[in-house]
Amino acid sequence: MKAIVFERNGGLEVLQYKDIAEPRPGPNEVVLKVKASACNFNDIWARRGLPGMKIIMPHISGSDAAGVVVDRGSEVQDVAIGDEVMVHCGIACRHCYYCTRGEEFFCHEFKIWGFQTGPLDGAHGEYCKVPAVNVLAKPKNLGWGEAASMPLVLLTVWRMLVSRAKVQAGDFVLIWGAGGGLGVMAIQIAKLFNARPIAVASSDEKLELARKLGAEFTLNRKRDDIFAEVRRITDGRRADIVLEHTGADTWPLSMQCLKWGGAIVTCGATSGFDAHMDIRLLWNKQQNYLGSHLGNKGELIEAMRFVERGLIKPVIDRTMALKDLGRAQDLMETNAVAGKIVMLPA
Ligand code: NDP
Repeated sequence: MKAIVFERNGGLEVLQYKDIAEPRPGPNEVVLKVKASACNFNDIWARRGLPGMKIIMPHISGSDAAGVVVDRGSEVQDVAIGDEVMVHCGIACRHCYYCTRGEEFFCHEFKIWGFQTGPLDGAHGEYCKVPAVNVLAKPKNLGWGEAASMPLVLLTVWRMLVSRAKVQAGDFVLIWGAGGGLGVMAIQIAKLFNARPIAVASSDEKLELARKLGAEFTLNRKRDDIFAEVRRITDGRRADIVLEHTGADTWPLSMQCLKWGGAIVTCGATSGFDAHMDIRLLWNKQQNYLGSHLGNKGELIEAMRFVERGLIKPVIDRTMALKDLGRAQDLMETNAVAGKIVMLPA
């Protein structure tokens, strides 16, 4: 089969579109014919290499896929050949203390599929394999590309806003990267809870998209004084929740824009990991700093109910041929994407 493979960390030049053997299922796994995969920023972290994290080589990236089950292992009973499915990318043992508490992301064996798995074990190929427990039925109201575009970002934001920050009606939610993969989900989930999204992005086109998705306020980070605007919008109170993933560049401003008693919830640090924090804010203003990492399968199923009813919609910037994954990553690295990029195998 054809897949995008890399054998060492580096720039876009390390990505090779090449022939490799089709995956075979282990006893508890299923093999999918991939109809569509989606790009995530972890594809880029894996390619560049991350200090302190082993990327298994040769590597196939891709943590989101939708496809048809074409093979299954001897122990698989509840997934059938021919099933149309999408993938939940959190791989865990499913029987340890943490997994049985619904905290699969704390499992000692926890891995994000297509990021920490391998060799040659991710979505960006013609076929892929995953544990059978990691698939869920593709909703009938979604096309293949739409289904592939959603699980990772939908689940991550659901956990950030709903499970961790406990978003409530009326909350002002400041959303960085509002036109990005997480951002387009965050606007919709905040709206679903009758919260008031304040969307930040670097272009008016992305802000127009944010408005269409339900952002009540939009700020252009290249032009607007974000702190002054947040104070104006919230009548001096500042944001109840700040959705962070942008990291060192925005962290000080996120702290400044947070109300007393409010919550910053973060899952990433695109612009750098090393942010300064004045810990007096923790007690003085009783602020909450919440970490969040992916989510569990139950949370994804919960969020997908709203997708099935059309209340959270996929947002696709463009669809590209799998062989052009390098070009897709270049667009992401230059912040030129509004929503998600979907890749189609030949
Ligand atoms: P995208 O590339 O789709 O969007 C990121 C957005 O961030 C861009 O649209 C850009 O918007 C904005 N941005 C980038 N750099 C800066 C900056 N210096 N200052 C302000 N805004 C910036 O990525 P995703 O939304 O998919 O992911 C975002 C981050 O979250 C990544 O680092 C990713 O690894 C992490 N992540 C973590 C997960 C977890 O479970 N821990 C899961 C998913 C993602 P604009 O230029 O328009 O402002």
